[in-house]
Amino acid sequence: MQPIVLITGGSRGIGAATALLAAQKGYAVAVNYARNSLAADEVVRQIRANGGTAITVQADVAVESQVLAMFDRVDAKLGPLSSLVNNAGIVDVACRVDAMAVERLQRMFTTNIVGSFVCAREAVKRMSTRYGGAGGTIVNVSSAAARIGSPGQYVDYAASKGAMDTFTMGLAKEVAAEGIRVNGVRPGIIDTDIHASGGEPDRAQRLAAQVPMQRPGTALEVAQAIVWLMGNESGYATGSLVDVTGGR
Ligand code: NDP
Repeated sequence: MQPIVLITGGSRGIGAATALLAAQKGYAVAVNYARNSLAADEVVRQIRANGGTAITVQADVAVESQVLAMFDRVDAKLGPLSSLVNNAGIVDVACRVDAMAVERLQRMFTTNIVGSFVCAREAVKRMSTRYGGAGGTIVNVSSAAARIGSPGQYVDYAASKGAMDTFTMGLAKEVAAEGIRVNGVRPGIIDTDIHASGGEPDRAQRLAAQVPMQRPGTALEVAQAIVWLMGNESGYATGSLVDVTGGR
């Protein structure tokens, strides 16, 4: 049976690279996006052009009703989920903690953490042998920021990723006996649009000299770790946090 993966934030960056690679490996792919339907359509077009199966699914992961509708659509259009990649995530403009507005903090934690919890909750209900499911895998996309802290930039973002790592470790143990493996990937500085959304389009190149390998990573290099954790090749790994950081 063809495995089915839902990738949140699959329209651009690391999520899009993961969608394309997963399709190459034989997965049917649900490409979630929040606003950029053109980018999501393009990922699906590329997958279909190569003979793969893919659909787009719009949902802001920060809005529970939209997440529920997204899972219903995946059930109806593709079938029972085998993998979830909790990849959708946001940064904000550089700001010290003593200047952070509550609205900013709420948006950051609701999107990066509450959204990932709600998606995982819906995935566990479908995958767990406790509910008659066939098992599955969840990959949480965290960040090296979880252990660096991102002072003067976005400590809120870093803290949301620290929470993501604890979430990965706890959920992994909670569902390990129910056929579900849960792992995390912590990318370093990866060349995607996310830096522009934090007001610094050239951030990846600017910080390259701070990376032991002297370059930013590519979305594909992160996708390769995610797809490994999704599949049977990582069959005895759960609760693991895999750094993909060029040594940072
Ligand atoms: P991008 O900004 O390039 O892409 C973000 C993706 O997430 C888009 O597909 C976007 O959809 C989607 N998205 C954003 N907000 C929401 C939301 N509320 N609901 C659903 N989808 C949403 O990001 P990256 O590829 O760089 O980052 C992906 C993940 O990797 C994030 O969790 C990020 O924190 C993490 N990461 C990235 C690093 C980097 O250097 N790039 C480093 C460490 C971690 P749309 O197209 O509709 O806007």
